[in-house]
Amino acid sequence: MGAADAQTKRPLCFLLLGPPGAGKGTQSAIIARRTGVARISTGEMLRDAIARKTPLGEQAAPLMDNGNLVPDSLLVALIAERVTEADCTNGFLLDGFPRTVNQAESLDRLVADRGMELVVMNFDVPRAVLLRRLSGRRWCPNCQATYHVETSPSKKPGICDQCGSKLIQRPDDRENVVAKRLEAYEAQTVPVIQHYEKRGPVHRVDGYRDVDDVFAEVEQYLTGAMS
Ligand SMILES: [Zn+2]
Repeated sequence: MGAADAQTKRPLCFLLLGPPGAGKGTQSAIIARRTGVARISTGEMLRDAIARKTPLGEQAAPLMDNGNLVPDSLLVALIAERVTEADCTNGFLLDGFPRTVNQAESLDRLVADRGMELVVMNFDVPRAVLLRRLSGRRWCPNCQATYHVETSPSKKPGICDQCGSKLIQRPDDRENVVAKRLEAYEAQTVPVIQHYEKRGPVHRVDGYRDVDDVFAEVEQYLTGAMS
């Protein structure tokens, strides 16, 4: 960070990288709540588009159900549109993006065009833990609450505490699909981390800990980046 930045602080674009199930979604929700930066989750935007059966949703649904990654062009279009909204003026946080080097390069252009600065974190969790976390996840299709059969079960098995709806396992959390998502991650997203390591610091976060302990470390790093 140069001397010029001390006078006009550039808006930050926070990236939370790491495999599916590493806790990026949980942590980014806490960061957004505590710091007020807009949180952009490509997963949530896509599920919303699928639920509303928009043209983009209709294209993405069969791909996601089979554990395939959604094409870059689709995601980049979704994000480019989203970041023009007023809540992103002072910065934003991306959860689940970029997942490919091609996406990272598109994002680099977007960040440069908007005069922003990147802050990159990489969440690290052993593969066996990811498999257990993801395949045990249950989801409420009505209010989108998330549970886990071992670590955060609903009070009544299979029923949402908040709205009483029947919980489901999202198709992309089924064990065979989870294995495919992890393979896609290894092949396509690990090179993204290398892409950013070449450009500047990437802060490694040990994600195999209690949610609060992980956040304490994230918060310390973010406070440093924002000051
Ligand atoms: Zn519910």
